[in-house]
Amino acid sequence: MDCPVDKDPMVGLEYDDIEIDFCMTCRGLWLDAGELELLFGDAETCRAFLSAGGPATAIQEKTRRCPRCDAKMDKWTTSGDDPVVYDHCPEGDGLWLDAGELRAILRSGGSDDAAARVARFLRGMFPEDAS
Ligand SMILES: [Zn+2]
Ligand SMILES: [Zn+2]
Repeated sequence: MDCPVDKDPMVGLEYDDIEIDFCMTCRGLWLDAGELELLFGDAETCRAFLSAGGPATAIQEKTRRCPRCDAKMDKWTTSGDDPVVYDHCPEGDGLWLDAGELRAILRSGGSDDAAARVARFLRGMFPEDAS
């Protein structure tokens, strides 16, 4: 799969039996809906997480295309006091985090159980960026 930012091929990174696609060029990452399902343990929680938060209307960030289906992704934010913006595939394929968004997630505690779980998982995968 190619990076939605620079089109370089992404590499698969595995942690805790869950695989993500990581771009070595821009250090962004793609979390597939199927992998999120594994992380959450069920499809219901995964769907709830992917549809939590809401559209980030005030964000002037470049539109990215979904690396799976090529649809234009929406800017969404996590819920809570310290929301993190991410790109969300309208078809539900997964979500994309730019390097800065990844760092923001690593530093946030996560605003609800599902977000906290994602944050914990990513801290385990990128311990050097988590402090
Ligand atoms: Zn990239
Ligand atoms: Zn898609």
